[in-house]
Amino acid sequence: METLEFQSEARQLLQLMIHSIYSNKDTFLRELVSNASDALDKLRLESFRDKDMQVDVDDLHIVIESDPAERTLTVRDNGIGMTREDVVGLIGTIAKSGTAEFLKQLKEQQSGSASDLIGQFGIGFYSSFMVADKVTLVTRYPHAEKGVRWESTGEATYTIDDVDDAPQGTSVTLHLKPSDDEDRLPDYTEPAKIREIVKRYSDFITWPVRLGGEDINSRKALWARPASEVTEEEYAEFYRHVSHDWNAPLETIRMQAEGTFEYQALLFLPAQAPMDLFMRDGKRGVQLYVKRVFIMEDCAELMPEYLRFVKGVVDAADLSLNVSREILQQDRQIQLMRRRLVKKVLSSIKSLMGTRPDDYAKLWGEVGAALKEGLLSDADNRDAILDVCSFASTHSEESLTTLAEYVSRMKDGQEHIYFMTGDSRVAVEKSPHLEALRAKDFEVLILTDTIDEMWVDSVPAFDGRTFQSVAKGQVDLETDEEKSANEARTAEFADLLTWMKEQLEDSVKEVRLSSRLTTSPACVVGDSYDITPTLEKMYKAMGQELPKIKRILELNPSHPLVEGLHKAFAGGERDGLADTAELIHGLALLAEGGELADPSRFVKLVADRVQRTF
Ligand code: ADP
Repeated sequence: METLEFQSEARQLLQLMIHSIYSNKDTFLRELVSNASDALDKLRLESFRDKDMQVDVDDLHIVIESDPAERTLTVRDNGIGMTREDVVGLIGTIAKSGTAEFLKQLKEQQSGSASDLIGQFGIGFYSSFMVADKVTLVTRYPHAEKGVRWESTGEATYTIDDVDDAPQGTSVTLHLKPSDDEDRLPDYTEPAKIREIVKRYSDFITWPVRLGGEDINSRKALWARPASEVTEEEYAEFYRHVSHDWNAPLETIRMQAEGTFEYQALLFLPAQAPMDLFMRDGKRGVQLYVKRVFIMEDCAELMPEYLRFVKGVVDAADLSLNVSREILQQDRQIQLMRRRLVKKVLSSIKSLMGTRPDDYAKLWGEVGAALKEGLLSDADNRDAILDVCSFASTHSEESLTTLAEYVSRMKDGQEHIYFMTGDSRVAVEKSPHLEALRAKDFEVLILTDTIDEMWVDSVPAFDGRTFQSVAKGQVDLETDEEKSANEARTAEFADLLTWMKEQLEDSVKEVRLSSRLTTSPACVVGDSYDITPTLEKMYKAMGQELPKIKRILELNPSHPLVEGLHKAFAGGERDGLADTAELIHGLALLAEGGELADPSRFVKLVADRVQRTF
């Protein structure tokens, strides 16, 4: 028997494990099972390459045994095993580059955040020392005559010895520390506990994991099986498992990337929005696996917030099992992967649109409002998102329209995509702002989701056509003749407009003639960069103080009420005209579903006016 010293960096890492800075101790079993699984993969590969290898590969498996009386836990595999040199080289030292730097950083950190840093590093086999005060490893490489026995308490040294009758493969026996609820050290000899950990972290590894003669992992990593071999029911069952949604998924998306950064993804689009879709602390992201080993739930680094309804699994081949969120956020490969996942999801929705329009409509109805958030947050994919958006429009009462369909219906000479935001379809449809567009038969998108108020200001255009609110700025719909006629009229009305502005100074910043009205006397509009009344209401509901926003009053010079006012004003009359001006402003506010500052005063104005006609 020989006693050897750990390499100094290995010693430091072991100290960290013994003093267990890493809070989730269950992970030691994940690491051991993952090592065993790798060893089985390697043996199978070797046996393919080397036909003369005298090994039995018919029943490759992992066995977990526990002995509550002795307080031991053993993880055994009949895989590739290790030679004596392997054991000294692999277990006694840390060969990984960057270890020194890692340990240096670790020392500079407060102990509390060390568990973040440790994620940069596969903690691997050494994690056994989080839960054990002594570890015994017995292993034999297929061609080696003798096996090797390694043992250590994780302090400065380990012993190494030959064993005559070691079976092929490796067994790792942990002499467990006393279990202790306060220190959050569960009893790892408990079969239920072992089963739970294996189920959580190792359910999909390729090889059977046995406990008491029973296979305890399902091994069904659907994403690793050829698509043609997986049934709809299997996908649906797995979808329920990852999403907690009882319905079958609307669409299943599979991805496979080979090359320097290998990964597989199995993603689902829901038929019904997740319950927590619009909850502040709702679940985000997909599950992350590394080579069939479960790493984390809700990996938000792989899926942007606006695609939070996408559920599923991403299995990356080249990450450390102990990767942390901090590392995922910084990792360039992860960002690249995320970009490809997003593109794939968006292109899947687009193809759904073409091939199964009813399913697309269902999906849009459930998650469209979330998806539209991407128009604000994901500028890179803005066009792809616009492509899969649908909106209500004046074109049809029942069905929604895509922007491409809108554009295909645009009239000659129509430059913009017109839209109006508001609380409801009815409010928007009835609003006076739409009159001239309706008269010209121009289609208007009806945007009633809260998010619509936001994205319309930041999305410049679709397919080269800019978005134009019909309730903001000047709507330029007139022909040249209409324009010159209007200019003449504006000159005619100039004095009235100036006078009215003075009368209504407290609530409007300008009074002008409108080109958007045909039947209503007046409407109020915002400047291009003003926030809309709905948005103003939202901010106020959130308790935000806003400066008073004055809007623009537009008059319809052809309306009898406005004509009458003009005539009386031109004739020098001023008596009661201020009331009429106020009345017209009130009517404009009511017509768009807005609120009056002083309803009882308005009622009095109307009553007086009506009386005069008797
Ligand atoms: P990692 O698995 O991240 O490489 P570990 O410290 O867990 O780090 O293991 C170090 C090395 O020891 C492994 O890369 C592998 O070569 C070897 N090893 C560990 N466990 C086994 C096992 N059960 N069978 C064969 N080799 C093993």
